[in-house]
Amino acid sequence: MGQQNVVSKEYQELQEQLNSWHKNWSEKVNAEDITKSSPKISNDLPILSQIEVNINEEILSEMFADLILLLNEITPNLKSSLVKVENIKSEELKKWFEESVRSNNLYFEKYAEENELESWIPQFLAEHLIRPFLHVMSKQFEDKLEGINNGIGCKFCGEPVRLAKQGENGKKVVVCPRCEASWEHKKLECAICGNDDHKELTIIKIDDDTTAQIQACKKCNGYLKFVEARNLFRNHSPEIVDLLTIHYDYVAQEKGYGESIEQKN
Ligand SMILES: [Zn+2]
Ligand SMILES: [Zn+2]
Repeated sequence: MGQQNVVSKEYQELQEQLNSWHKNWSEKVNAEDITKSSPKISNDLPILSQIEVNINEEILSEMFADLILLLNEITPNLKSSLVKVENIKSEELKKWFEESVRSNNLYFEKYAEENELESWIPQFLAEHLIRPFLHVMSKQFEDKLEGINNGIGCKFCGEPVRLAKQGENGKKVVVCPRCEASWEHKKLECAICGNDDHKELTIIKIDDDTTAQIQACKKCNGYLKFVEARNLFRNHSPEIVDLLTIHYDYVAQEKGYGESIEQKN
C-alpha cells in the first residue's frame, strides 16, 4: 500500500486505543436496554433521529470514569483539563449523550466556556462516550437501513457520508466511520446526493496508490473515498480506515470537493 505519511504514528495509536475502547464497551452494552421497542420508522430521516434512546445513567458514569482513566494514561497532556470534568454528575452525562446524538456543537461550546475548558474537549469526550452505543444500535437497526432514503448523510446516524468499501462482487458498500452502519449503494451513483448522471461524476486516483479512488460529484460537490484494498477493512475498523486514507481527503479537497478537513474535529 503506497500510503503517504500524513497521520503521525502517535495519533494513529491514540485513535486505535480509543477504538478498542469503543469495541470493548460495545460488547458490554445491550441494545435492548438502550432503545425502547422500535417505533414506526419513517424513511426520510436517519434512524437515530427517530428512536427514543433510554440510557442507563449508571452505565454511562461507569463508562465515563473508564474513559477518563484511559485518557489520563494515553494523553497525559490532557490531565489538567480532565480533572475539571472527571466528577461530572450522571444527569449531566445523560445530557451530554443526548446533545452528542444531536451533534449540538453549541451546547458543548457553551459547556466548555462555562467550565473553563478548551472548546473541543467536552464534545470530544461525549462523542467517544456515545460511540459504543451507536455501534450497538446501528446493528440493532441493520435490517431497516436499506429502506431509508434520507438523501444526505448516514442512514443511521446522519454523519456526512465519505467512505465506502468493496462488497461482494465488487459492489460499493457505504460505511459510516462514526456508527459503523453500512449499506450497498449503486456503483455509478453519487452516495451523497444520489446523482446518477455519469457526466457529473468524476473518479480521482492517486498515482501509484491503489488503496482507494475518490468518487467526486460535480452536482453536489461532495466526494466519497471508495476503498478498493480489501485488507484495509479486514484489519481495521471503519474509523481507522477513514484515518488511514486521509491523504485522499486532502487530494479531493485540493481539487475543490467537500468541506475543509479542518472543520471535522
Ligand atoms: Zn452513521
Ligand atoms: Zn452528489
